[in-house]
Amino acid sequence: MSDEVILVDCPTCGKEVIWDAQHTWRPFCSKRCKLIDLGEWAAEERRIASQPDRSDSEGWSEDEDNVTRDY
Ligand SMILES: [Zn+2]
Repeated sequence: MSDEVILVDCPTCGKEVIWDAQHTWRPFCSKRCKLIDLGEWAAEERRIASQPDRSDSEGWSEDEDNVTRDY
């Protein structure tokens, strides 16, 4: 009975994951799914996509311009 395979469902995507030492991210199927479950994946993506040189005041005035022109 010691060779019985334990399968768990990844909480994020539902994929079956074999519960053993080789699967570092169990019960998640991957690091990505673990990060998604922790809510960190979105934060990480935002950090990568963000442009640090874009200033808040520029974005704000652009929005105002668009509103003025369109309406
Ligand atoms: Zn998954």
